[in-house]
Amino acid sequence: MRYDALVVGGSFAGLSAAMQLARARRKVCVVDAGAPRNRFAAASHGFFGQDGMPPLKMIADARDKLLAYPSVEFIEASVSAVKADGGDGFTVSLGNGEQLSASKLLLAFGVQDGLPDIAGIGERWGKSVLHCPYCHGYEFGDRPLGVLFHSGHPPDHAMLIAEWGPTTLFLNGAEGPDAEARARLQARGVAVEPGRIAGLEGQGTDLAGVRIDDGRLVPIEALFVAPHTRPASPLGEQLGCAFDDGPSGKLLRVDAMKMTTVPGVYAAGDLAMAFSNATLASADGLMAGVSMHRSLVFGV
Ligand SMILES: Cc1cc2nc3c(=O)[nH]c(=O)nc-3n(C[C@H](O)[C@H](O)[C@H](O)COP(=O)(O)OP(=O)(O)OC[C@H]3O[C@@H](n4cnc5c(N)ncnc54)[C@H](O)[C@@H]3O)c2cc1C
Repeated sequence: MRYDALVVGGSFAGLSAAMQLARARRKVCVVDAGAPRNRFAAASHGFFGQDGMPPLKMIADARDKLLAYPSVEFIEASVSAVKADGGDGFTVSLGNGEQLSASKLLLAFGVQDGLPDIAGIGERWGKSVLHCPYCHGYEFGDRPLGVLFHSGHPPDHAMLIAEWGPTTLFLNGAEGPDAEARARLQARGVAVEPGRIAGLEGQGTDLAGVRIDDGRLVPIEALFVAPHTRPASPLGEQLGCAFDDGPSGKLLRVDAMKMTTVPGVYAAGDLAMAFSNATLASADGLMAGVSMHRSLVFGV
């Protein structure tokens, strides 16, 4: 079976793109490995009309709505390889060896988060170790908060987090911000903890504090951390797509119509956006779906 469009990744971006193609009555196949980026969080916040919903439920509901369209197929699998069919579309290989082909391809497989190697961070990711205050800061309002210093992050990030609660900036042995930035932090009431971190402590996935290697425990209830990101799959590299450096890792380069530098290959969602957010990923996917449909009608 040859599809009009094949979507790699069936989450906020991929399902939104597929919905536009389905509504344009095109044959579309979504292949998804079932590991969306926010699966570690119990609730997703800020999405229009769905604030506080479990993210996996949001995605499952969206998939059910999509599968009500007869021209859609959904395959639970991982795409392991892709190649261009000499200007006439693309063939992807699934992990089980099956091959699928399509005229247009959407890469919507998201990114993977690389977390600092500090004891206690991994198991608290998405629970009390957080990436985004707009997504999860409200739930920790007025409680003691921490920010892990990151050389690529402006120190002003800790000043932003102070909007939600009393904040400590943990340098973890790094030199940290310059005198001018430290003065701004002090004026904002942000404490600076220079010591090296021995680990995070607390019951289960709750956070009680950050243990400094001199033995002190600095009490906080949530720690904001900037992850290093990388594309969740090497398919962009396999196709020869260009990338740009983003604030936390490399991003697939797309034009205003969400097409990558390889004609017929589109990209949407976190893997192509500097600011990661479910609403933005969904909107990005919608735009990509419309662009892919127009391209099927008018040519590239
Ligand atoms: C802990 C955490 C909490 C968050 N909370 C919020 C929040 O509250 N509100 C908010 O707006 N945003 C939140 N975000 C951001 C949000 O998760 C992302 O912006 C959003 O998930 C991006 O959607 P996406 O479709 O681009 O990618 P993803 O949601 O990551 O989906 C990518 C999909 O592609 C699949 N995939 C990967 N490789 C392959 C392959 N080779 N073959 C097939 N499928 C593949 C994956 O399994 C996955 O299902 C949070 C992020 C994190 C890390």
